[in-house]
Amino acid sequence: MAEVGKNEGGDAGTLNIGGTSYTVIDHEYDVVVVGAGGSGLRATFGMANKGFKTACITKVFPTRSHTVAAQGGISAALGNMGPDDWRWHMYDTVKGSDWLGDQDSIEYMCRDGIPAIIELEHFGVPFSRTPEGKIYQRPFGGMTTEYGKGIAHRTCAAADRTGHAILHTLYQQSLRNHAEFFIEYFALDLIMDEGVCRGVMAWNLDDGTIHRFRAHKTVLATGGYGRVYQTATSAHTCTGDGGAMVLRAGLPLQDLEFVQFHPTGIYGAGCLITEGVRGEGGYVTNGNGERFMERYAPSAKDLASRDVVSRSMTIEIREGRGCGPNKDYIELHVEHLDPKVIHERLPGIAETARIFAGVDVTRQPIPILPTCHYNMGGIPANYHCDAMTVKDGDPFYAVPGLMALGEAASIGVHGANRLGSNSLLELVVFGRSAANRVAEQLKPGETHKQIKDAGQEAIARLDRARHAKGGTPTAQLRALMQKTMQNDCAVFRTTQSLKDGCANMDKVFAGKDDIRVKDRSMIWNSDLMETLEFENLILQAMGTMYSAANRHESRGAHAHEDFPERDDKNWLKHTVVWVDEKTGKTRIDYRPVNLQPMSNDVQSFPPKARVY
Ligand SMILES: Cc1cc2nc3c(=O)[nH]c(=O)nc-3n(C[C@H](O)[C@H](O)[C@H](O)COP(=O)(O)OP(=O)(O)OC[C@H]3O[C@@H](n4cnc5c(N)ncnc54)[C@H](O)[C@@H]3O)c2cc1C
Repeated sequence: MAEVGKNEGGDAGTLNIGGTSYTVIDHEYDVVVVGAGGSGLRATFGMANKGFKTACITKVFPTRSHTVAAQGGISAALGNMGPDDWRWHMYDTVKGSDWLGDQDSIEYMCRDGIPAIIELEHFGVPFSRTPEGKIYQRPFGGMTTEYGKGIAHRTCAAADRTGHAILHTLYQQSLRNHAEFFIEYFALDLIMDEGVCRGVMAWNLDDGTIHRFRAHKTVLATGGYGRVYQTATSAHTCTGDGGAMVLRAGLPLQDLEFVQFHPTGIYGAGCLITEGVRGEGGYVTNGNGERFMERYAPSAKDLASRDVVSRSMTIEIREGRGCGPNKDYIELHVEHLDPKVIHERLPGIAETARIFAGVDVTRQPIPILPTCHYNMGGIPANYHCDAMTVKDGDPFYAVPGLMALGEAASIGVHGANRLGSNSLLELVVFGRSAANRVAEQLKPGETHKQIKDAGQEAIARLDRARHAKGGTPTAQLRALMQKTMQNDCAVFRTTQSLKDGCANMDKVFAGKDDIRVKDRSMIWNSDLMETLEFENLILQAMGTMYSAANRHESRGAHAHEDFPERDDKNWLKHTVVWVDEKTGKTRIDYRPVNLQPMSNDVQSFPPKARVY
């Protein structure tokens, strides 16, 4: 096993860029996986296990990846707590996607989820148990039996630390299978050669060296880009680096307009306050102290669906009825509940509110805002995890050498909206699928094509950012981008707000030319790293804003006030968007939605009217 974090196994050389010399270390692997969250680790260990020389590059220590924060659980139709069937799970997922899901990928996930969970258990995930010793399963929103008739108990959990347990287990399995880790390495860009991906360039944050990884397959598992918004439940590291690498390689991203928001994130910090709080009797008020949900959803009130509560909160703020000196948040109350109930049923929430909002929930309301929770869009890929593009009119063209999975990808399983607990499932199912794909297409130890000046442009880009001498600190421009996205492209979308949003984002993008980076060093230069992350974020902010402005219907998480209906005639299609890294200009095209399942074991689910 290679030692974690060491520059081993590579040949070193130096490269001069614009008068600065960079140490470049070369590596050759069968496969390089970028990302060590649940998806990256499942792929890494699967590939290593099949005898491929596999490297995993990650900018944070593997077990600090955002997957660690997932609490609720991971779905699969095991049927441990009552009848269940993967077809019912498939139906729920198709319906949850508002029919934008690709039914072949959804079938693959719901079917393969069952053995994938059993396998996880055998690898060592300490799932919670039923009295008979089976894996415990809890009900979750949108998970039903018999095609919507009953409530399914489908979500497997390891207490409220499911992501944590899965991530640790997969990291241990990766080490056991001799995968080689490059930890605290920041991947910069793909090495592309005549349309083929040949590997990836990375910067070792610890000693400032640059690393050129040649690989027959490069797998992007870099997570979501929630940080384009002012408030997000995802970690600060969720900056969509893989998606931006794809855009810079001249390839498109898919369905970026679909972003899931959660109504109760702590104002400022974004951390999640579970829906359970409202389940226990909590309620929200505006700046006038009014329980405004009674106006928007007279029967469900505070327990209306996530989308409805998020949208109502946003309207209150937009119309000047927010709380606080800037009237820019809403308050969530639990102080009327018996402190014993809070203590027993919501201890985690009391702690989170104390730490992140400085609030004692037994006495004060919690300041909240709808918070970005999940990116349905990402790198288009099929259920084998081959990255796709539209080429010469072919919407299913697989980019040679490039794969994608996890939240970074858009494999089509979530469509326009994701069901809770389907994301952790996606990570392990497609991590496994990616490893199988590599085994089908490659043999260990094949020789690498030598390419002149490979990766030089990536170093030049880093060098430009490192020496940026403008007048605007990155943090200032990033805050402006996040505010613009939050105001104009969050849960409340109208033709006017999106038009303004496009114009505002164009201005923010133009500000990029005036960025200032103060620290010029190469070792633990967080100023430089955050600038590179910002460059990644803003490309996806542009793609999201323009894709949202372009879609004239309401579907799943994309609720457009001026086009309130779903329009299957014109919009039953995936958006693909290219974003020019220099100008920020976008170009939009479409890919068809696959309504055909993978096998004959299940019927296709044609689009049905929405029922609220
Ligand atoms: C608070 C919270 C709770 C959630 N709860 C649930 C739940 O209960 N059930 C569920 O199904 N889903 C849940 N989700 C969603 C789910 O957890 C995520 O979608 C999923 O974990 C993402 O996994 P991933 O492998 O795609 O990426 P991540 O876990 O985000 O990992 C990304 C990896 O990429 C690496 N990386 C990124 N950029 C670079 C770069 N430039 N160079 C090198 N490495 C890089 C990072 O170091 C990291 O290792 C939750 C999400 C959040 C935020």
